[in-house]
This record gives sequence, structure tokens and C-alpha cells, in this order.
Amino acid sequence: MDAEALRRYGHLFVDWIADYMRDIQSYPVLAQVKPGDIRQALPSIPPAHGEEMEHILADVERVIMPGITHWNSGNFMAYFGVTSSGPCILADMLTGAFNVSRMLWKTSPAATELEQVTLDWLRQMLGLPGPLFGMIHHNSAIANALAAAREMVPGLHVRQKGLAGRKEMPRLRFYASEEAHSSVEKAAILLGLGQESLRKIETDADYCMNVEALDQAIREDLRSGWWPFAVIATVGTTSTTSVDPVEQIADMCERYGLWLHVDAAYAGAAAIMPEMRWILRGCERADSLAINPHKWLFTSFSCSVFYTRRPQALRSAFSLTPDYLQNNEGHSGQALNLMDYDASLPHGFPALKLWMTLRYFGQDGLVNNIAAHCRLARQFSRWVEFSPTFELLVPTRFSVVCFRTHPAGMHNEEQLDRLNERVLNRVNAGGRTFLSSSRLKGRYTLRLAIGNLRTTEAEICVAWEELQKALRLEMGSIPS
Ligand code: PLP
Repeated sequence: MDAEALRRYGHLFVDWIADYMRDIQSYPVLAQVKPGDIRQALPSIPPAHGEEMEHILADVERVIMPGITHWNSGNFMAYFGVTSSGPCILADMLTGAFNVSRMLWKTSPAATELEQVTLDWLRQMLGLPGPLFGMIHHNSAIANALAAAREMVPGLHVRQKGLAGRKEMPRLRFYASEEAHSSVEKAAILLGLGQESLRKIETDADYCMNVEALDQAIREDLRSGWWPFAVIATVGTTSTTSVDPVEQIADMCERYGLWLHVDAAYAGAAAIMPEMRWILRGCERADSLAINPHKWLFTSFSCSVFYTRRPQALRSAFSLTPDYLQNNEGHSGQALNLMDYDASLPHGFPALKLWMTLRYFGQDGLVNNIAAHCRLARQFSRWVEFSPTFELLVPTRFSVVCFRTHPAGMHNEEQLDRLNERVLNRVNAGGRTFLSSSRLKGRYTLRLAIGNLRTTEAEICVAWEELQKALRLEMGSIPS
């Protein structure tokens, strides 16, 4: 494709994207296709000859669009609401044009250095004390934190000697609350530590890690031959957005010499609001910390920020330079080679979209939008609280509301779980809004998660209407 063709198609595609963004809320938010529909609509044999871009774009509309669940719609309030904002979409175009890999400083000085500057801006916006080493990953990189933590355990040398067949190897243990994200467990699988290496610590009535239970678990494990090496605290758990007591956990980590990783993937962004700074209290003592701008900082997938006070530990875990990547800058310590801090070669230019997004909104713009999301969540919570047929299940701390329908006279918990599940399925099948669910201490909860810039009072009204309608229909269909 020559430059003129790129220009022509670029205009066509940008127009298409702008129209899509304008009309996004007219689409059913959850894709209305069945498994296999998209696959069937696509040719099973590869294209023998090149095709015109107009033709390909027409197929995007005809075949791909029906299979899109519109994460960028204001009616998307499932899991965590997210936004790929305008500056970010444009940055993604530039990123495609540059197509750099920032494995070495010299393979992209701008990508490497912009990442350091942008992450330092973000650190300041969040009120975290510096200096912190920062790097962007596709996801919250808990395995990297654990790999670094493991390398810091004296005498283990896992990087060199591995785990298999070592009789002298202690059984490694790390801790996270029972509300921690499943990626914590997956990190244990990935690192060959085994799921048993993760001990889940019970939570209190507010779904926060019970620090006394943590202390007890560590002591028990030490007595029975485990080797505790890390704790993962969560600031904003996935189901309820609870905040673990990081300061007390940091005390515990200091007492037992454990690596503290803070998973603030979703809620960390809220610390940008001065009144919410407290949520990261204690994080200045953490060894590492993750915050996902692709969740609540209006940046497209994937952009997860990993900070650490101990970059040397990451290097111990991952630094390795083959002959074909030897370079003077890294060797002499003049420049940073990001590949020394990750298991894979860091490709792409993720800082560009974060940099543009932070600049476009500015700190005040980000604060205003995040605060607006929290206000909307509180408004929805009030509707729930004042409703005779719905109830709030946990206090709304950020922009996620956990609630359920609980019609008068219905006390059987299993029946309530089933009713709530049916209500949710009905709401989502309608296509006007998309919510999700989780379980709190075993009980089914509905979740409404606000994080999209297009979510306004109108969208939460739609969700509320759809819930009431679904409940009426369900109650009508339940024989009394
Ligand atoms: N941590 C928390 C608290 C989460 O809620 C999630 C996802 O929802 C993750 C980690 C993993 O997210 P990602 O894979 O986007 O980094």
C-alpha cells in the first residue's frame, strides 16, 4: 500500500471509526450471535489474491460487527467498564505506523524513555513517592512480581537451577486474600510453583484481607516447613472493590521478610482524586505495584503499569542478552534496555497512548471523569437502597455497585441466587445494557461497573429500567 493509498484508506477508516463512536450506543451492547456464527460466516480457505480495502471494510461491517461486544459503549457496565478514548485510538494508529520494539534502548529510544517519563508522571498524579522503576505490560504481570520475589529468596537460585528434582528446595508459599483476582493463582501455575503455593487468606465482613489470619497462616506455614516469600495485597478487589489493609500487610511483610506486591489493577486509578489518595497508603512500602490504565484510565487494551522499588530483582530474574542483541548502551549502563526487566521481549510503544491520554485529559480531566463515575455509582446505589425489591450487598466505594434483587417474602438463598441469575440473563439478552455477576461468600451478586466515558445518568437509568422490567417478567413467570 503506497502512501497515497494509505491516505485515502486512512480517511475512509477514520470516518468509519468516528461514525462508529458516534453511533456506538445504538448497537446491542452484548453481541447477539451464537457460538460458531462468526466462524461460519468467514471463508475457510485463505485469500489467494489480494483484495480491495473497501471490500475488507465491508466485511468488517457484515461479518465482524455482529460479533462485537461493544466494550467501548456507555452501556457496557459488566466486569469493569473501560474506555478506549479518542486520543488513545489515534495513538494506536501512530503506534501501528512506528511498529517499534523497545527490547533495547537503541531499538527505540523514544519508546523506552517516554515510558519512563510517562510512568513517572502517573506516579506523581497518584501521589506515590519516587523514585519508582516503571514498565508497561499487557496485563498486571503478577508472575513478574513473584519471579522477582523468588529470586530474592537467599540461596534458592531458581533462575539458574530451576525447581524440578531439587530435594533441598523448600516448598515456597505466598499469600493473597480469598478475594484476590484469579491471575494470582495463574501466576503460581505459570511459574511452576503449583496452585498449593498460594494460600488464600480469609477476608473480614468487608471482604478485606484479615491480617491476623495472615499472621497466623505465615506462622503455621513456617512451623510446617513451608517457605513464605511474598504477599499480594489487593486495592480494589474484582468482585467488591474492597481494599486490603496495605499498611498492616506491609508491617507483616517487613516482620517476616516477604515481598509485598500490591494489585491495584482497577482501583489504583482512583488515587488520582486527592480525597482518595488514602487507598494507596502503605504502597510506598510495597516492593511492587500494578495499576491498569486499560481499566479506569481511558487507555485501550492493553496497558498495565508495573512499578517496583527493586528493579534489580527483576533484572536478577530476567536479564539475559544473547549475542545477537549485544549493545554498548546497556552494557555501559548508559541506557535502559527494557528487555532486562521482563521474560519476553517488550514489543510495541504502549507509552505513546498513555502519554497522549494523560496529556489530552490532564490531571483535572482525569479527576473529573473518575469522580463522575463514582458519583454515578453512588446514585445507582441510592436507587437500589430505596427500592423495595433490590438491595445493596456492599457499600459502594468506587464505581462498582454490588447488589441483588430481593423481593419481599423470598428468603431462600438458593432461590434468590437463581432469580438473580435469571434477571441478569434477561437484562443482558435485551442488548440495551450489559451487566455481570459474581459471588460474595457463595451468594450470587449482580455487578454494575462504571468506567466508560460515555456512561452517564441516561445509561444507568437504562440499566435500572431493564432490571425492574426483567424482575417483573421473572416474578410473573414464577408460580406463586
Ligand atoms: N487484578 C484485579 C484486581 C483485577 O480485577 C483484574 C481483572 O479484572 C486483574 C488483576 C487482571 O487484569 P489484567 O489481566 O487486565 O491485568
